[in-house]
Amino acid sequence: MTARSGTIYLVGAGPGDPGLITVRGRQILESADVVVHDRLISCRLLECVRAEARLEDVGKMPGRKSRSQEQINELLINLARDGRSVCRLKGGDPFVFGRGGEEMLAAQTAGVPIEVIPGVTSAIAAPTAVGVPVTHRGCSSSFTIVTGHDSPSTKSGGVEWDRIAQVPGTIVILMGVANLGFICDALIQAGRSASEPAQVVESATFPEQRTVVGTLGTIANLVRDSDISNPATTVIGPVVTTLKTDLEL
Ligand code: SAH
Repeated sequence: MTARSGTIYLVGAGPGDPGLITVRGRQILESADVVVHDRLISCRLLECVRAEARLEDVGKMPGRKSRSQEQINELLINLARDGRSVCRLKGGDPFVFGRGGEEMLAAQTAGVPIEVIPGVTSAIAAPTAVGVPVTHRGCSSSFTIVTGHDSPSTKSGGVEWDRIAQVPGTIVILMGVANLGFICDALIQAGRSASEPAQVVESATFPEQRTVVGTLGTIANLVRDSDISNPATTVIGPVVTTLKTDLEL
C-alpha cells in the first residue's frame, strides 16, 4: 500500500522500537511526501522515509516554542490540500492520549481524506516489554488505562482516582511520573493496598529502557531515587509479580 496524494494518514508508530510499527504503517511512512512527527519517535524509524520526503518535527520540546494543536491541524490540512501525501506519525496508537481524534475531526471538517492506521500502544507494550501481562487468568481480568497528567491535588483533574481504585484489575498510568506520589496516595486512600505490586517502565522497547519494581507504597520514592523520567508507564496490580517467580517485594 502506498500513500495517496492529497490524503492524511494518521499512523501509530508503536512504543519506540522501530520494529514495532505495523506493516501498513511502515508502507505509508516509506512512501509519503511529508512526514509530520512527534518528538518521541525513534530516529531509526525515520531513516526509512523517502530521500526527497519532507520531515516536520512538531513535538513539544522544553525551552522551544512548539506549535499549538490548531497549528498542527492546519499544517496537515494545508499539506494535503497542496496535493501531498501526508504521514502523521504519532507515538503508540494515535487514539490513546495522542490528540489523534482532534486531528481526524479537523481533517473531516475540512473535507480532507484521512485514514487512521492503529499502532501498538505503550499502555500495553511497556508492561509486556518487562514481562508483565496486563491480564492474566485467575489474576486480573481487566485493565484500566488512565492519564496521570491531571494531578489529583488539582480540582481540574478529570480523573476520579477513588473510582479508578474500586475497579478490580490492573491499572496502567500514562504520563504519570511527576504525579506518581499523589496518585499512589489517592489509590491507597481509596482502598487499594499499599503492598500491591507496582512497576514503572521508562523508554520501553528503546535500547535505554529502564524499570523499577515496588509497591503502591514504595514506588514513588523508588522512581524519584532512580531518576526515572518521561516517557514512562506505570502498571499496578498483582500481574506485576505473577510471572516473576523469584521476586520478593
Ligand atoms: N499514544 C501513545 C501515548 C501518548 S501519551 C501510546 O499509545 O503509547 C505519552 C505517554 O505514553 C508518556 O508520557 C508515557 O506514559 C507513555 N509512553 C510513550 N512511549 C513510551 C515508552 N516507550 N515507554 C514507556 N512509556 C511510554
